[in-house]
Parts: sequence; C-alpha cells; structure tokens
Amino acid sequence: MNAPDCLFCRIVAGEVPSTRVHDDDLIIAIRDIAPRAPTHILLIPRQHIPSAVDLVEADGPLLGRIFAVAADLARSEGIVDAGYRVVSNVGRWGGQSVDHLHIHLMGGRSFEWPPG
Ligand code: AMP
Repeated sequence: MNAPDCLFCRIVAGEVPSTRVHDDDLIIAIRDIAPRAPTHILLIPRQHIPSAVDLVEADGPLLGRIFAVAADLARSEGIVDAGYRVVSNVGRWGGQSVDHLHIHLMGGRSFEWPPG
C-alpha cells in the first residue's frame, strides 16, 4: 500500500520529521517545509495515492475527511473570514513535485486568479 521511496509515505510513517497539525486514521496534516503563505498546510492521505488523477468514486470518504479537516484547520488558523485556497497540483504542468496525493491549504494573504 505504501511506497518505500516516497517522501510523504516516509513522513506518514514518522521516518522523516514534520510538524503535524492533524493526525487520524485516514490522513495527516503537516506544515509545508517551504511555506508560500502565512498558513501553508499539506493534507496527506496515509495511503499512497500518486495524485488526484488516481482517485476513484470509492475514495469519497477520504476526500470528505480531507475537506472537513481542511475546514477545521482553516477555522483554527483564523483564515476563514478573509478566505483561503485549497488546491492539489497534478503532474508536471500542474506543478506537482511530490508524487503522493496532497492538498495544499493556504491562507493569510490574498491570491491571484488564475494562478501562474
Ligand atoms: P507539490 O509541489 O504540489 O507536489 O507540493 C509539494 C509540497 O511539499 C511543496 O509545497 C513542498 O514545499 C512540500 N514539501 C517538500 N518536502 C517537504 C517536507 N519534508 N516537509 C513538509 N513539506 C514538504
């Protein structure tokens, strides 16, 4: 289920240190090591799913958990009133650099649309 050479699998396993802000049976959430916004959190499934293109309908409960936890974290980070961004990069042109599904929760500043 998990990939030995995958950075985020190793973070999930606790083999690589991270700053966890959430941990449950389906996902963890960590602070991004190179934050691009005052709040920059990554929501990461425990299961090794390479990217959003690999999701299937049966992953609905996982996605529900990710978005519910993202909302809870947005509340606790105090970024709900101003607004925030939830995004997942897919593949090379999408800007994905770690091939283990993750959702960026970003806030604390305003963002451009469309992204560069
Ligand atoms: P993406 O480029 O969309 O695949 O996002 C990968 C994110 O992982 C980037 O924002 C990186 O800064 C972040 N990242 C890479 N290594 C680590 C790490 N060891 N701990 C926390 N975040 C990381």
